Amino acid sequence: MNVLSSPPQVIYRQPRNLQSHLVRAKLVENVKNVHKGCYKTHFKNCVTCNVLQETDRVYSNATGETFTIFSTITCTSVGVVYLINCKDCGKQYVGETGGELRVRHRGHRQEIRKGNTPLGQHFQICKNFDLIGLQSLVNASKQKREAIELRWIYRLGSLSPVGINVKDVRTVS
Ligand SMILES: [Zn+2]
Ligand SMILES: [Zn+2]
Repeated sequence: MNVLSSPPQVIYRQPRNLQSHLVRAKLVENVKNVHKGCYKTHFKNCVTCNVLQETDRVYSNATGETFTIFSTITCTSVGVVYLINCKDCGKQYVGETGGELRVRHRGHRQEIRKGNTPLGQHFQICKNFDLIGLQSLVNASKQKREAIELRWIYRLGSLSPVGINVKDVRTVS
């Protein structure tokens, strides 16, 4: 038998796993780029998405400055510093939550019904607002979130009486 008549079969394979891994990584990266900033995930029956502004920029009504939002934020993001923007008078409020943004928003709607916080009182007079996620802080401590919240309060100039925040600034070093 002539061994050369049947050469060994060598099949050159694409490094398939690596290849598809790279493609997937690129897709994920693209999706992230598309959705940088704040965006709606529900188009029906979500009271939070209804008021959520789709944007990667936030404008300070107090100073006229614009800031970029680098996080990706939806109504179900957990650990968020956010902005409530009064569409009637332009006053702004910065808040933070360690839970889901939509759960915090539910809390704010209760405050508005009861009028038991400065924010709740404000929106018993003014009626229209929208919501922007400013920064996502997954797994951050409450202390860390509050520090970032305060940074946004100063950036946007949302302290009362210009804005709606009434943080006691003396407690922060
Ligand atoms: Zn939603
Ligand atoms: Zn207002």
